[in-house]
Amino acid sequence: MSKETYNAFQNAQLQFDQVAEKIGLDEATRELLRQPMREYHFTIPVHMDDGSVKIFRAYRIQHNDARGPAKGGIRFHPLETVDTIRALAMWMTWKCSVVDIPLGGGKGGIICDPHNLTEREQEQLCRGWVRQLARNVGPCIDVPAPDVMTNAKHMLWMLDEYETIHGGKYPGFITGKPVGLGGSLGRKEATGFGVVYVLREALKRLNIDIKNTTASIQGYGNVAQHAAILYEQLGGKVIAISCWDNNDKTAYTFRKKDGLDINALLSITDSYGCIAKDKALDMGCELLPGDAWLEQDVDILIPAALENQITAENVDKISPQVKVIAEGANGPTTPDADKILNERNVFIIPDFLANAGGVTCSYFEQVQCNMNYFWERDEVIEKLDTKMTSAFNAVYELATSKKLCMRDAAYIIAINRVAQAVKSRGWV
Ligand code: NAD
Repeated sequence: MSKETYNAFQNAQLQFDQVAEKIGLDEATRELLRQPMREYHFTIPVHMDDGSVKIFRAYRIQHNDARGPAKGGIRFHPLETVDTIRALAMWMTWKCSVVDIPLGGGKGGIICDPHNLTEREQEQLCRGWVRQLARNVGPCIDVPAPDVMTNAKHMLWMLDEYETIHGGKYPGFITGKPVGLGGSLGRKEATGFGVVYVLREALKRLNIDIKNTTASIQGYGNVAQHAAILYEQLGGKVIAISCWDNNDKTAYTFRKKDGLDINALLSITDSYGCIAKDKALDMGCELLPGDAWLEQDVDILIPAALENQITAENVDKISPQVKVIAEGANGPTTPDADKILNERNVFIIPDFLANAGGVTCSYFEQVQCNMNYFWERDEVIEKLDTKMTSAFNAVYELATSKKLCMRDAAYIIAINRVAQAVKSRGWV
């Protein structure tokens, strides 16, 4: 699938269909689970700072809520498409299911580029999104969260609008809130740490000492930064990181063959995950093209930026040294590339397992909000590690006992749980 013809939803459906066939799912359940249960498409008018009014397209898609309220992020992206959001909503259903938390799958987005919007305009956009959906989302219906280019500040504006409309305090409406205002300690690092917990387990099973490994990472935003921090703490060495450069409108890879200084890089990275090129060069980093992160002689690849990054066209550029791919991003590997990597015996930790740490901690955030009692950071992180490790172990056991790849095993566990829920509820 080339970048031009790639359709994330078709990819998600293809993955689902293959597993449905494998587990012999009945027709009605297949039909129900291969598409979203509900979709909201709407417009948000915003009075811009220059006096003009701009109309933004926005979406919320609820794929399935048989196991609990829909759960999933809201993205701000100029190239967002409804099919990408559909796919992401579906992947959220499988993600919540594979880590066995009582939530379903949803996703939302606004087609916009926050780089070009002022704070006030972004606030209007957040409040407008909630005004359009106030009756269709909520702590018992659908719980949004941050995602690409959205953050705790956006979540709080959304919560404030929701509480204004409904006339009460509903901290469980949205997760990823600032700590002290209903947010959970540990949420910021949860997704990236979760990636490394499952990576750590995979390396143990493969008898590889993490201290002898090197990694290359795509992205240096929320997920990638925290994955890099923990991976380095456990003794691994990150030698390449690629990210977007908004001035040059292209991506670059920053490389240091003897290991990048993760903390130093953090100090020159903006809130969108863009590393300041000139300062990185001053630090002695080599500057390579954006897709060079994929071609490094490393043991581990962590795609943690965007979907559709490892494709049939570039998969052959992956070094034979690569043993593990931990998918931090959603949908970074296309099915045809996945097949080739499996034939090469690369151990892939699939996205909806590898990056489930974020939603797991969001679930903890909701639990804490409901109790109105907040845990210490160590308690959150420890619970996260336990949940991720046990999810990894369940998937690994099934994969080895049935001679499946990790992605198929994870899908089988996740889809079976959701299929069971829709059957038990009498929907099919
Ligand atoms: P983010 O916006 O914080 O960071 C995105 C990063 O990708 C930035 O460093 C940006 O520079 C980089 N990037 C953008 N285009 C690029 C390109 N062409 N080449 C290289 N780098 C590029 O986003 P995030 O929250 O870190 O999310 C990253 C991925 O992880 C997404 O797929 C998201 O859906 C997924 N994810 C995020 C969370 C979470 O909790 N944040 C949870 C689960 C999954």
